[in-house]
Amino acid sequence: MSQDSPVLDAVDGHYEETMDLNPYGEEETLDRTGMSCAHRAESQRPSRSEAEAAVRTLIRWAGDNPEREGLLETPARVARAYEDFFRGYTEDPAAILAKTFEEVEGYDEMVLLKNMRLESYCEHHMVPIIGMAHVAYLPDRRVVGISKLARLVDCFGKRLQTQETMTSQIAETLEKVLKPRGVAVLVDAKHQCMTTRGVHKTECGTITTRVTGEFKENILMRQEFMTLVTSSVIGV
Ligand SMILES: [Zn+2]
Repeated sequence: MSQDSPVLDAVDGHYEETMDLNPYGEEETLDRTGMSCAHRAESQRPSRSEAEAAVRTLIRWAGDNPEREGLLETPARVARAYEDFFRGYTEDPAAILAKTFEEVEGYDEMVLLKNMRLESYCEHHMVPIIGMAHVAYLPDRRVVGISKLARLVDCFGKRLQTQETMTSQIAETLEKVLKPRGVAVLVDAKHQCMTTRGVHKTECGTITTRVTGEFKENILMRQEFMTLVTSSVIGV
């Protein structure tokens, strides 16, 4: 992806806004998008055997013996699991939305995908973030296949993330690529770093939202989104 890509600009723009809150250096911040540095990451990627050796180190750090029978195949399994957990790095989010359709019947009301299961990974503790994503947009003549919205959620979910960053990335990619009249994203998730360690707040959920365009300007539109997300009209 070129440095002039609108999606890249959107993501970088988000980081500029939040730079004060970001404890990372600029270069590492760019890495966190997983977009601007895909080729660099690939060239620096450790080998499978290096990854498996790292898992053996962590097993020893946890206090167990990686040579005992039950753990012998574990490093290879963990490496394969990581390929699935973090497959989002291998996808280009803009390309997922590249194919759009003209809405010939003139549908210009909200398109909402609600209750999409979200699986992501906390970038601070590398443990799961599990929840739901709800994504809506207001078409401006062009629409996108609804399954593409689910793939977009997975593309950003299957990376090391913060919920705040992920919510913004989903909204801003949709905004920049599809150019709708507005985008609304709500993510409702539990972080295992909160529920299974540290403060052990097992029922604690985190909600993040990002709205653009008419959802931001029109309070009634935003309320309609929130009502549909929280109602049982669909998704039952
Ligand atoms: Zn965490």
